[in-house]
Amino acid sequence: MKTLKDLFEHRIKDLYSAEDQLIKALPKMLEQATNENLKNSFKNHLEETRFQKKRIEEVCENLNIDPSGEDCKAMKGLIEEAESFLTEDAEDDVKDAGIIAEAQRIEHYEISGYGTLIRYAKELGYDKEAEKLVQSLEEEYRADEDLNDLAKDKINKKAEA
Ligand code: ZN
Ligand code: FE
Ligand code: FE
Ligand code: FE
Repeated sequence: MKTLKDLFEHRIKDLYSAEDQLIKALPKMLEQATNENLKNSFKNHLEETRFQKKRIEEVCENLNIDPSGEDCKAMKGLIEEAESFLTEDAEDDVKDAGIIAEAQRIEHYEISGYGTLIRYAKELGYDKEAEKLVQSLEEEYRADEDLNDLAKDKINKKAEA
């Protein structure tokens, strides 16, 4: 790995693997959540995540990069932890609060991934590609805020009771 382009390539493949893993994991989190709003938030973000994966494919196609071939171990670990929490026995509200915490850690990881990638893309002059990636970054921010609102408004309060 010698150039910033190499680094960009490594990071986008990593994020591609992360999004791909998340598409498989989100349905399990959706299934285990009890709050209807939380379920809807996962449903919505699952749909967005499928688009995000496609966006990465489009960016890679433009730049002649094969997006496959990386295995994002960080996302693997985050999902493992989330899934092990899903097997815990807990009251519905406590369970939801915990699922939100797991999901937010995942979103934060993605936010960091897109942030770096967009910075590299801009430095490399990949302006159109950077724009596409910004769309995904904005979705990740919104997903995180959504989860924050759900945690603050209802779920944490109920879990305290
Ligand atoms: Zn990697
Ligand atoms: Fe994502
Ligand atoms: Fe990674
Ligand atoms: Fe996300």
